[in-house]
Amino acid sequence: MLIDGHMHLENGPLTKDYVMEFVNAAYKQGFDRIQILDHTHRFKEFEGTYQGVKDACDKQEQWLANKEMKFKDTLDDYVKLIKEVKSCDLPIEVLFGLEVCYVPEYKEEIKKILEPYHFDFLVGAIHSIDGLLYDMSWSKEILWDKYDTNKIYQRYYELIFDLVESDLFTQLAHPDTIKMFGYYPTYDLTPTYQKLAQLLVEHHVKGECNTGCYYRYHHPDKGLSKELLQIFREYGVDIITASDAHKPSDVGTCIKDVYDACYR
Ligand SMILES: [Zn+2]
Ligand SMILES: [Zn+2]
Repeated sequence: MLIDGHMHLENGPLTKDYVMEFVNAAYKQGFDRIQILDHTHRFKEFEGTYQGVKDACDKQEQWLANKEMKFKDTLDDYVKLIKEVKSCDLPIEVLFGLEVCYVPEYKEEIKKILEPYHFDFLVGAIHSIDGLLYDMSWSKEILWDKYDTNKIYQRYYELIFDLVESDLFTQLAHPDTIKMFGYYPTYDLTPTYQKLAQLLVEHHVKGECNTGCYYRYHHPDKGLSKELLQIFREYGVDIITASDAHKPSDVGTCIKDVYDACYR
């Protein structure tokens, strides 16, 4: 079964025609199932959960103030689209969910917002270290060149453990994207990876092998690092392949290259 478990409508409208561009791109490449999601920063309901990220740095505040991209739709708009797409005859299985920017301080608020909705899946993601985004053009200045890399890694995995233990999510986004700019800790990550694998299994959360870091940020790993992937497989983590496509032409990118390492 060929799956692309993570792609964003983010750069386009919430319309059936736009969704079908993703569906058709996946169908043409032989995918059996795709999972469509958007970041919670698309939706008005979640604006309050970004207060910490806004307060941490001016650039982040500006980034989130762009009303053409951020907090522009409602979850009800999204649910309407999902119903419309699901009522159509589709060539492959299409599931819908969200990529929630998880911050422990807003755990209860996130839970409350999500409660009335039933999505096919929910992806939890850590994108910030105590308010500081680690994957932006300004991240080197505010985070990587300012703080100890070991401390950043320790905090990143603490946040991930908290995310998994919250039981709010069915899937963990890009478990090791913290490596994206090539900063690595000096300590051995093996025990951290083992603990993560164990938690994912215990809490029935899928772990992504996300290829976005490779083709979007030019990191040499095509998805999970060899070490983390091996530990996920040893522990029996339910691995899901994911492109993190932000446009239809990126759907499925490199998934066939990592398929064997993930499943065979
Ligand atoms: Zn993400
Ligand atoms: Zn994503």
